[in-house]
Amino acid sequence: MMKLATKYIHAGTEPDPSTGAIMTPIYQTSTYVQEAPGVNKGYEYARSQNPTRKALEDAYAQIENGKFGLAFASGVAATDAVIKLLSPGDEVIAANDMYGGTYRLFTKIFAKFGIQFTYVDTTNVANIRNAISPNTKLIWIETPTNPLMNITDIAAVSVIAKEAKALLCVDNTFASPYLQNPLDFGADIVMHSATKYLGGHSDVIQGCLMMNDAELREQLYFIQKSCGAVPGPMDCFLVLRGIKTLHIRMQRHCENGSVIAHWLRKQPKIAKVYWCGFEDHPNYAIAKKQMRDFGGMLSFELKDDSMDAAKKVLSSTKLFSLAESLGGVESLINHPASMTHASIPREKRLENGLSDTLIRLSIGIEDADDLIEDLSKAIG
Ligand SMILES: *Cc1c(COP(=O)(O)O)cnc(C)c1O
Repeated sequence: MMKLATKYIHAGTEPDPSTGAIMTPIYQTSTYVQEAPGVNKGYEYARSQNPTRKALEDAYAQIENGKFGLAFASGVAATDAVIKLLSPGDEVIAANDMYGGTYRLFTKIFAKFGIQFTYVDTTNVANIRNAISPNTKLIWIETPTNPLMNITDIAAVSVIAKEAKALLCVDNTFASPYLQNPLDFGADIVMHSATKYLGGHSDVIQGCLMMNDAELREQLYFIQKSCGAVPGPMDCFLVLRGIKTLHIRMQRHCENGSVIAHWLRKQPKIAKVYWCGFEDHPNYAIAKKQMRDFGGMLSFELKDDSMDAAKKVLSSTKLFSLAESLGGVESLINHPASMTHASIPREKRLENGLSDTLIRLSIGIEDADDLIEDLSKAIG
């Protein structure tokens, strides 16, 4: 089997048939001229098909070891498409610790259409088993979770999903395909916010789904073209370009993540660091089993648990920019309670262990010494 570096550079892109251009052109067109009614080159209208998107969708399939890939206008548009496989009365078991926008989509948009969501701590798979009912049609997990870095055993959940005849969808955004490939562990669908590590340069919003089952692909393609949340060709081009350097970016994200996680842990003003590469992380054994490395996402709490102390750190870094999002080449610092996770009610956040003063870092690919110096000054 092709090694990751080779795969990421060649996935999906073939020289352009009309000119030989090595990089897939940005096919900025809405429609395609047909020779006669129904006689066309496989492209009719750009909501349904676009050559730049096609190249990217082929790349998506390959990088997740899947047969099929589909691109969407954003990560949440990809999630939205998965839930539209369901009907009123169907039940979804979802993680109680996941991206705030996913929780908002489930509770504020889809619940009113009669789809039921049960939230459980998926790090203990028995909780999922106990929540299964005859109406369970989908299990939705995220691992590692955002922002607490909890790990769920994908292979174990996939066994439960198969027994229940429910689909398993894994939001693999935090790990990226470089660290973990859920289809290999029995997941039915992998979802990514390509906005993050796949794009990698903080310049595009996009989402994707990868799968192996042809019928499932047909259903999701039907939703993609019928509901229309497709990305434009320029955005597809940017993600195609991003994927080519995924392996070298991820290597550095992982190296820097490890150095900074270990450094932070030794600082006298730090109470706790959340990073799944620590050997005493409660799910370390599972992380080690299903991930190739541990990534560049981590969170921490200060010993001084006042909001003022957290705010001081959040507003005094110079290299770490205070912003939502993650997975780009530049380092970001974020306050989940007021930013990425503000859409989750406070009591729910606290119940799930997400404190008001937790600080999340997306470690970029700058020099680790400079990042440490920046954090060191901000923590004081
Ligand atoms: C950002 C993110 C999403 C949503 O993706 P968008 O591209 O912002 O729509 C979903 N899941 C996770 C884990 C994310 O980080």
